[in-house]
Amino acid sequence: MLLENGPSAYGRRLPDAKVVWDGNVLRSKEFDDIYFHVGDGLAETYHVFLDGTDFPRRLHPSSVHHVVETGFGTGLNFLATWSCFREHAPSTARLRFASIEGYPLELDILSDIHKVWPELGELTRALQAKMPPRWRGVHHCFFDGGRVELILIYAPIDEVLGHYDLKADTIFLDGFSPSKNPDMWSEKALTALADSLLPEGRLATFTAAGHVRRQLSAAGLQVDKKPGFGRKRDMTCATKPGGKKLVPSNPEVNILGTGIAAVSVARQLSHFGLNPTLFEPAGELFVGASGNGVANQLPRLGLDNSPAHRFAQASFAFARGWATEEGFCLGQSGVHLATDEKSHKRFQTISEQNWPEDYLVFIHGDALHKLVGFSHPWGGLLHRKAGSVDVRGWLAHALSQWEVKFGCPEKDDEKLLVIAQGSKSKQHYHDLQPYLPLQYPAGQISIMPSQGLVGDIALSYGGYFTSAKDGEHIFGATFEHNRLEDNHTINPLGHEHNWSLLPSELQKLLGPFSPHDLKGRVSFRVSARDRLPAIGRLDERRYLITALGSRGMTYGPYAGYLLACDIMGYPSFAPLDVQQSLDWQRFARRDKQQAVL
Ligand code: SAM
Repeated sequence: MLLENGPSAYGRRLPDAKVVWDGNVLRSKEFDDIYFHVGDGLAETYHVFLDGTDFPRRLHPSSVHHVVETGFGTGLNFLATWSCFREHAPSTARLRFASIEGYPLELDILSDIHKVWPELGELTRALQAKMPPRWRGVHHCFFDGGRVELILIYAPIDEVLGHYDLKADTIFLDGFSPSKNPDMWSEKALTALADSLLPEGRLATFTAAGHVRRQLSAAGLQVDKKPGFGRKRDMTCATKPGGKKLVPSNPEVNILGTGIAAVSVARQLSHFGLNPTLFEPAGELFVGASGNGVANQLPRLGLDNSPAHRFAQASFAFARGWATEEGFCLGQSGVHLATDEKSHKRFQTISEQNWPEDYLVFIHGDALHKLVGFSHPWGGLLHRKAGSVDVRGWLAHALSQWEVKFGCPEKDDEKLLVIAQGSKSKQHYHDLQPYLPLQYPAGQISIMPSQGLVGDIALSYGGYFTSAKDGEHIFGATFEHNRLEDNHTINPLGHEHNWSLLPSELQKLLGPFSPHDLKGRVSFRVSARDRLPAIGRLDERRYLITALGSRGMTYGPYAGYLLACDIMGYPSFAPLDVQQSLDWQRFARRDKQQAVL
């Protein structure tokens, strides 16, 4: 299925790699080329890529080393790099390894192949446990407490180079041989890769093909021939000349806020080796919009391939991965229920976009009834990786990792300040008068005792209904634009509104309804008119993360990750148009364009 805003011959899912064992050799059927020889594979990786780029001797104690690889394949290069990093890196060094892969191996095949390297057993098991579903886009996997990150960019190489935020200290070119797979070695690809290499960065590849060396040289690299592995006479190594690589000075960072946005930035800065301090001006924790005890994590998928939908998908996977890792997921899955004929058709069309079955299917009739506990005529999208999350538990656990102070930080020109205080953020950047058209709608949620009647899943239907925690479901929510700020009074009309959003069969199952039997909570969200977060640098010292709307637990973690990359000047490995779609300055840019038209 062709998708708007992005070439695609095969919809959302990438084609799987077709491999066959040919004696001691793992061979690709599509490319008629080899992945590795049993017995030699690991030694070849060390010789060509790790020694070829002098990787173990270039790890800096106070910075993150970024590797970019073309062709993830079996993950051998990643596993060997991780193992080498564990052995040689100073204890404070960090590794981010981004790999571009257009034909991922299926997990069971990958796991079988990994048996060839029993010496990497622990690492192969950890990798297998985190391998993502094969939808195209960016997937982040964290290991060793976040000290090591694998970024799998699932897309054909021509969709990535020039379109994603890539920078590297080290590049491995490993996309089958140039004669069998010219796409991975085109002039455009090699130039873009050479451009993404940082000063003093190194590149290595097994091939010594003349046109590859000439193109790397034309792209400004200093290119050398070195002895190849085994029977291969030569291989290619290259260095980026010109200036010393800037080692980041690891700034001190204060974060204003203790909610989802604040914690999300803090976590990624910690992964980068920083130790931020969090400040809570309210004097107590869990007071703002992040204070709702449970939230749903469900992606808002669209028919097209717009930056907003790709952000929704990537951020959902990122957030769910984090909640899963820390053990705060509730429920087995999530269902986005269609509510009329139009959404029924839309969801069916989405489900026909060739998603991996372990990720998304359309569900209706008895199967849906069995899953959710009530019948629903319009069916819905079953998101197998989705569910609810124990926000309170997740936040409390996260906050235990950093110093949290009550009050505001003293003004300190030496320290960076991240403003992540939800609806209270504006007073901390008001002096700059940024053009940031935001809304602050209040949201009342309803809380009801669980009677064990509804399936243990997250539901979305215009409103939302969470899995039970401590014997209670949360459902909601209102969107009130005319509440006075700081009016947190629970309104029975709000409960009535939330009840009215529920699908009728769910109402029947849960009824009879009495607003006075329900508990509730009111908080103020921040949302932008395009419903996307707003992040970025405000001035020399201040950064902002805001406008998570009512999707904090889905959007916040990835938005925080992207902001942390920005603060450090590190690559985010995100599509550039997705990054731009979150930039807080987009409103001024768009409105200016509109004015010109
Ligand atoms: N580095 C891998 C490892 O450690 O196992 C081996 C890589 S294998 C030799 C080459 C990889 O490039 C394959 O996994 C293949 O699917 C991928 N590939 C080939 N053409 C591609 C393209 N146009 N875009 C993205 N990936 C591609």
